[in-house]
Amino acid sequence: MNIRNVGHSMKYEAECVAMLFFPDEKIVTTEYPAGETFPPQPEDYIENRLENGVMKTTLCLNGEIRTMEQKLYDDPQGPYEEAEFLMCDMMYILLTQATGVHPGWGSLTGVRPVKLFHRRLDAGKSPEETGREFAEHFHVSDEKIALALETASHEAPILREATDDTCSLYVSIPFCPSRCSYCSFVSHDIASERAKKILPVYVDRLCDELCCIAEKIKQTGLKLTTVYFGGGTPTTLSAEQLDQVCSAVERYFDLSHLKEYTVEAGRPDTIDRDKLRVLHSHHVDRISINPQTLNDEVLKAIGRKHTAQQIVDCFQMAREEGFENINMDLIAGLPGDTVESFCDTIDRIIALAPENVTVHTLSIKRSANYGQNWEARRKALELGQQVGKMVSYAQKRLMEEGWMPYYLYKQRNTLGNLENTGYCKKGYEGRYNIYIMDETQTILAAGGGAVSKLKSNRTGRLERIFNYKYPFEYVEHFDEILKRKDRVVSFFEENRPLPLWKD
Ligand code: SF4
Repeated sequence: MNIRNVGHSMKYEAECVAMLFFPDEKIVTTEYPAGETFPPQPEDYIENRLENGVMKTTLCLNGEIRTMEQKLYDDPQGPYEEAEFLMCDMMYILLTQATGVHPGWGSLTGVRPVKLFHRRLDAGKSPEETGREFAEHFHVSDEKIALALETASHEAPILREATDDTCSLYVSIPFCPSRCSYCSFVSHDIASERAKKILPVYVDRLCDELCCIAEKIKQTGLKLTTVYFGGGTPTTLSAEQLDQVCSAVERYFDLSHLKEYTVEAGRPDTIDRDKLRVLHSHHVDRISINPQTLNDEVLKAIGRKHTAQQIVDCFQMAREEGFENINMDLIAGLPGDTVESFCDTIDRIIALAPENVTVHTLSIKRSANYGQNWEARRKALELGQQVGKMVSYAQKRLMEEGWMPYYLYKQRNTLGNLENTGYCKKGYEGRYNIYIMDETQTILAAGGGAVSKLKSNRTGRLERIFNYKYPFEYVEHFDEILKRKDRVVSFFEENRPLPLWKD
């Protein structure tokens, strides 16, 4: 789809709205000065024209032309936010009329919609008023408003615990036993000779980095409240290597304030009794066993080398080994999955009764340039609607059975512009998930591809420290990675007084 913006440069905003309706299509925006005119053209296009304080949007789709215009209230140039809102709103309305598609999140295109709800609620608006505003101004459906309000209510007390003197630790293990077809993470297939060779060195450096981070935490007086091992698949490590990393965490950090210790065990083909025992002996109290689907055909289609039964067996083994807080990740919209098969997966997961269930929506790569191919576009939109049914079923069934939504985020380019939602049984909220999404707590991160986030709620500042992305670079530039961590101490010196007891 081609967009032309005339008299303004709101490219990003216009493309975000267009993406809701053309999810896997290349969107090309061209900007022109005010006053530029164009001869009639038969191809599809969207034009957003800002001239003399009037925003006018024209949509030409499938041979039909639709137009809307609105005057900006203030200055003829108009404040940026108002012009942006009017452009996005008119594009949304015209595209909805032309396609018949009504995305559940309406014209909200950001990745943290619940944050917008929190902002209104914190400012004293009632849930009803807040819901009305999102329905009227942003066309959000009743179902999504209810989901956002419910999520916000469960998140709020945990967010309040994330004070400026607390932090979390993220430990990155970017290795997997094989690569899934839909994977968008930096993860290395452990089957390759190169990965096998680097792994022990990587684990040693990771432990060294943990030592360095622990030192920074001591210097700043932060209290560590959550630890999260993610990846990749952390249980790709052997039992001995897991023991090495968990022992480093225990040795270097003060864990007396810890409220949650999660390891993403991930795929059943990486989990065995020895590894579970190692994790349990180090007081890991939350693990993830991620089926994504319980349909064997779909597992095969995404490149998994295990069956649904192995997932169930693995879950039972984790229970036998004493894990009382297990998360299971699912993905709606996997290749070859259907609404019926996804609903069946949900029902079987409910029967297993894990404490956490996280329902993701498949993120797709935008690459196609459909031009006038309306059929291909319609298929992409229909697929989005199918995935919408999967996500709605999951929400309805899980909430009926006593799980509640406690964190929610959206990724760009998901089918149907849908969300990823974490559900849990009461008292089993994954704190780290809330903190990472809301960006309210400092997260110190170790390992390849890890990104530390330094946050001061007092000053509102958020700063990131990047580690090298790939394990090979991580090992090679390790001194530089340690050097970058010096910023942790200076950030907190600038943003809040250090504790009195600091040397
Ligand atoms: S398990 Fe996760 S990180 Fe590993 S390849 Fe599959 S999607 Fe990527």
